[in-house]
Amino acid sequence: MYKRILIGLLLSCSACTTAHKNPVATITQQKILQDVTWLASDEMQGRHYRSLEAKKAARSIADAWKRAGLTPLPSKTSMYLPTDDMRDAPNVACMHKGTGDSFVLITAHYDHLKPRRSGKDRIYNGADDNASGTAALLAIANALAQLEHPLQSSIVLVAFTGEEAGLVGSEYFANNSPIPLRKIRGLFNLDMISRGDANTIFLEGAPDAPRINLAIQKANKKIGLNIIRNAHTDWLSRGDQAPFIDRGVPSVFLSVEDHEDYHRVSDHTDKIIPELAAKTAQLTFLAAIELAHPVP
Ligand SMILES: [Zn+2]
Repeated sequence: MYKRILIGLLLSCSACTTAHKNPVATITQQKILQDVTWLASDEMQGRHYRSLEAKKAARSIADAWKRAGLTPLPSKTSMYLPTDDMRDAPNVACMHKGTGDSFVLITAHYDHLKPRRSGKDRIYNGADDNASGTAALLAIANALAQLEHPLQSSIVLVAFTGEEAGLVGSEYFANNSPIPLRKIRGLFNLDMISRGDANTIFLEGAPDAPRINLAIQKANKKIGLNIIRNAHTDWLSRGDQAPFIDRGVPSVFLSVEDHEDYHRVSDHTDKIIPELAAKTAQLTFLAAIELAHPVP
């Protein structure tokens, strides 16, 4: 009886760490849409970084990463990395451990904006900004858990708090980094990856991060996205990659063009293109693995 129950549990566990033959294929538009739907639901109230709902989002992200079998960062016992202000929801970070002492970071902010005081629709759902990037981190976590072969670098996923309040979470992380910044081979920041043209993504920062750029080029042979490079270099100082670039960490930023629902209450789930977010997540996953050097 005991044995039978155990086998039943093993067969029905969808997030088990048994290797999938093609991990990147586990990153699907269905999974992205499912996660954007709850993150950007009215119930989440726009995930302002000092709200209860942002703390609830942080908890769900950490729980999902634990279920996928990922671990806290070295010398940490928890995936929550609080800032120095108790009112802030924490940064959340996890790791897929490599054989060496270097790191590759994939990041996205999970916070958005406070509800407005009046109007029929008061909630800034932030489906594209940045439930889409957060959903990508969740899908990438599952794919990492399916990898059969070890990587040299550890892959670190960070969901940042307080981006909308002025890069609060990423500044704090970069200033008090739990991992040596000089050991970071590269950082991919995803912020708004699900609007515009269904097959087009913008890439900023590539000229100063040639190894990341090469890894993205190689990965894109399998994904086939139309990548537009260096069209908005001013974006580099406006997102969570900025504090890392300032400290010499090679970093790139993946995003779509600003659109009519940017920072409006109409940034709703039914307007996102899950296929674009899934392809961008797949591209980032493959490029991060390339950069992290599979161990032969
Ligand atoms: Zn954003």
